[in-house]
Amino acid sequence: MSSPISKRLDPLEEVPKKTKKKDASQKESKEQRQLRHRKENMQRYTRKAAVKKKVFTPKHVITVDTSKAKYNQDIVRLCVKELGWKEYPYGKKDGSCDIYWHCNGFNDTDVISGRVNKFPGMDELSKKIELTRAMETMQFLFPDDYTFYPRTWLLPQQLTEFAAEVNLKRRRHPKLKTTYIVKPDGGSQGDGIYLIRDPNDYMLTHKSHVVQEYIDRPFLLEKYKFDLRIYVMLLSLEPLEIYISKEGMARFCTVPYEAPKVKNLHEAYMHLTNYSLNKHSTTYVHTENQHDGSKRTLSSVWSKLDSMGHDSDQIWKEIELVALKTVFALAPELRVEYKAEIPEEKSGPGCFQILGLDILLTEDLQPILLEVNSSPSLRTDYEKEVAPGVVEYIHSPVDLDIKKPVIMETLLLVAPKKKLQMKQRRSNRSCKKKQVDSLCVPVQDSISQSPPVTPLSCRYLQRDYTGYEEEDEEDHHSDPSSGTESDSPTPSHSYPGVHSPDEKVLYQLYPGRYSGVYDDLRVLERTADIFLKCLGVRSSLRMGPTGFRMFTRKCRLTTNGLSNAAVDIMFIELHRKWEFLNPDRTTGLCFQGFLEAVFTIAKRKFRGLSRLDGVAALIDYCEANLNFGRHARPTYLPKVMMAEAEDRLQQMSISKPSKYTRLTQSDHFIEFIRQRNKKKAEQEDNLKSDG
Ligand code: ADP
Repeated sequence: MSSPISKRLDPLEEVPKKTKKKDASQKESKEQRQLRHRKENMQRYTRKAAVKKKVFTPKHVITVDTSKAKYNQDIVRLCVKELGWKEYPYGKKDGSCDIYWHCNGFNDTDVISGRVNKFPGMDELSKKIELTRAMETMQFLFPDDYTFYPRTWLLPQQLTEFAAEVNLKRRRHPKLKTTYIVKPDGGSQGDGIYLIRDPNDYMLTHKSHVVQEYIDRPFLLEKYKFDLRIYVMLLSLEPLEIYISKEGMARFCTVPYEAPKVKNLHEAYMHLTNYSLNKHSTTYVHTENQHDGSKRTLSSVWSKLDSMGHDSDQIWKEIELVALKTVFALAPELRVEYKAEIPEEKSGPGCFQILGLDILLTEDLQPILLEVNSSPSLRTDYEKEVAPGVVEYIHSPVDLDIKKPVIMETLLLVAPKKKLQMKQRRSNRSCKKKQVDSLCVPVQDSISQSPPVTPLSCRYLQRDYTGYEEEDEEDHHSDPSSGTESDSPTPSHSYPGVHSPDEKVLYQLYPGRYSGVYDDLRVLERTADIFLKCLGVRSSLRMGPTGFRMFTRKCRLTTNGLSNAAVDIMFIELHRKWEFLNPDRTTGLCFQGFLEAVFTIAKRKFRGLSRLDGVAALIDYCEANLNFGRHARPTYLPKVMMAEAEDRLQQMSISKPSKYTRLTQSDHFIEFIRQRNKKKAEQEDNLKSDG
């Protein structure tokens, strides 16, 4: 560095040029040279400062808008700071941040680029009534896979059905005393919840409720009921990418549990595990310790269960499946909402979302889904009344330990990959420099021989958050010779248990862990595209009678026994039914109503098939007729269609193929048959040659 300049110099002053002739005295030329150096240094300095001023944010810096984060702002700020990114707490003037953290919903601001931490429609879909509908639809198609959601009715609409079922149960099992839990739709924090034993005890109000079978034999720890908060991160819808956090929370009741009796039905501190409720109890235990107290980490619960001889790995696997299937159930409608909000031709932001799943363990350690929270609390402090009317916010280390890694890793997963790589390269360079510097210190004792410690922000950045497909980085962290935490056995697929602060907590559930295994559960996502194609009015989420007629006509459903009149009647009936269930919604058939129409038509059209096969065949058939060519891959071919296609295949060999394709539009089926026949022939050939 140049020495400080005592004299103020004019940077624009002409620097005297070097002359070959040494006409002036030696002393004079030395002074001149010094002056010239000073001037040159000064000019360089002013130029750098000017460049710095012009550049608002360096290109590689990842920017996060937290202006709408409200009570999530503190924790997001902490993570952004630790990652060395730039936070815009009041929003950026040109509105072009990489990540937007909203507290409420997707529509908080008009974001057109970057990624927002909310999906359009998720808030609505995760409410109790909508969740119940999504679950019922899946239970209808996959009864064996969706047993983790308790039997639920919508009130007041299904009050008669509910009463009838309760009475039937009573008649069949007179000694059995079943309890039900009534929960207001859209309620949270245990507000307005009560337990009943008789349908007549339901209090009719202007609000909608769900009533659910109460799990009256939960698994208890130290005699207390508790539930688990599992964090699931939906990274993208198309392709579907789901992550789960292996660390979570267990929230305990504050009064020892007793099986429900008329006497204790009103005891909220015994039956409801909500933190917001139990914190008011005199027996609530706030601790800095993760292993006791009324709020604990998931890993501490697993350790406890393991010490009691239970298999926490097996429970976690079950929980993973609950999380996966829950997102699968929400995905079809979420897809409709997303595509209606951000059509392919419109520029819009990408979305991601952290969901909080509330799970209860039954006496025999089976996970039961109670609720999906679209905005789980990310607070890391709690209120304490230090004097009457004076509240102080106390830092909660347990909350911080659980929530910070989830947010930090989520941010890293959604950050622009290019910027992340730039940042990674820079941080690697500076880390290496630091390591080289520290290695330059003379080795004195055995302690100094341990490998140099990498700073926390570098450790986070050195992990693979830049994408799974891009492995071309020279100094990639997965390099086994890098000597960082990537040397340790990969944590991304390990099961629960106490994890070290260096381990990742989020790992990919889908497609990563369960890719291909449960894909058949995603069949209804394809109906979302059919629904959108036939909607007619853009950005509407309701299908009118014309749209419905168009759907049946375009998909060629009005042949073989389904007349136009029958289609109209079906629309009127379903519309009436779903309007009754959706009193606050606009006219037209909602997506769930459309799904019911699909199920009804499938039942009529493909009589010989099972429920699932019929629906899948109908979807194949509709896709083929709607020319969803590239995506349509027939998996189920009903007998009638198989015979029809085989017939046509024969004709094709006689007539011109182009004319034929125009006539039928079912070249997918034909291709399918062709492939199948080819395979058959190959198999027969193989058998013959073996013989
Ligand atoms: P909220 O959104 O108001 O928190 P939840 O559905 O999460 O409503 O229910 C609140 C609490 O009630 C849960 O944390 C759980 O302790 C208890 N609970 C809810 N549903 C059931 C159920 N079906 N069986 C047993 N306990 C339940």
